[in-house]
Amino acid sequence: SLKGKRAIVTGSNSGIGLGVAHELARAGSDVVLNSFTDRAEDHALAEEMARMHGVAVRYIKADMSEPAECRALVEQAGGCDILVNNAGIQHVAPVEAFPIEKWDAVIAINLSSAFHTIAAAVPGMRARGWGRVINIASAHGLTASPYKAAYVAAKHGIVGLTKTVALETAREPVTVNAICPGYVLTPLVEAQIPDTMAKYGMGREEVVEKVMLERQPSRQFATVEELGGTAVFLCSDAAAQITGTTISVDGGWTAL
Ligand code: NAD
Repeated sequence: SLKGKRAIVTGSNSGIGLGVAHELARAGSDVVLNSFTDRAEDHALAEEMARMHGVAVRYIKADMSEPAECRALVEQAGGCDILVNNAGIQHVAPVEAFPIEKWDAVIAINLSSAFHTIAAAVPGMRARGWGRVINIASAHGLTASPYKAAYVAAKHGIVGLTKTVALETAREPVTVNAICPGYVLTPLVEAQIPDTMAKYGMGREEVVEKVMLERQPSRQFATVEELGGTAVFLCSDAAAQITGTTISVDGGWTAL
């Protein structure tokens, strides 16, 4: 059980982050939810999760594109035992037309935020003698697709960051790993469907089957519950010697 542990999950008012937060709470961990929005619904989500799982859940607003806010999130939470770097955005465009501000935003939110939260969280893990850092990378941390230059670069980058910090904490009871999902049907993926439909001149069903799940040999989306279960496993005693590596949850994508 993760009773008595505190988990911070960045970007957790939606999608995979919310699913991971739920599974960590179900396993007994207290949870800090985060996004940049700070709406009444975000705080309501925290209350609902606390009620459902009988753990303490807080929502803390922080914009993961801002280095100081990433570090302040960890401080305001009072440190954490489990850090899940999940916040992420996507932008799809050919490299020569890729807007500079989109490149900067994707790198800031999908990669640099994890550097800042890790730097802020690891000293506390060290001091308390236990820690788990879980970075939500992607199959795009291991392979590429056209038109996703910033995303693929950021996700490869976070896999490198994972390995580096794992080496820096290797002699301590702190592990650092990345989970590499294939396609998971979340709002982020939903949002890519119209653009992809336009780009390939296809209908919704065709895009889902021929473009998205074409890369996923199982021909099924992974679920947020499965990703949460993988995170809980990485927090278990069985995973104590798993560090500096990636776990793919991608229906065989990266086996191709
Ligand atoms: P999502 O859009 O449903 O959720 C993204 C989360 O990030 C939201 O909670 C949002 O509030 C938060 N966020 C965005 N910008 C932020 C900012 N500036 N500050 C703080 N929070 C911010 O997307 P998702 O599909 O659940 O993606 C979550 C993570 O999983 C991302 O890192 C994504 O790259 C990764 N991923 C997703 C898939 C997939 O198929 N959905 C596959 C591989 C990897």
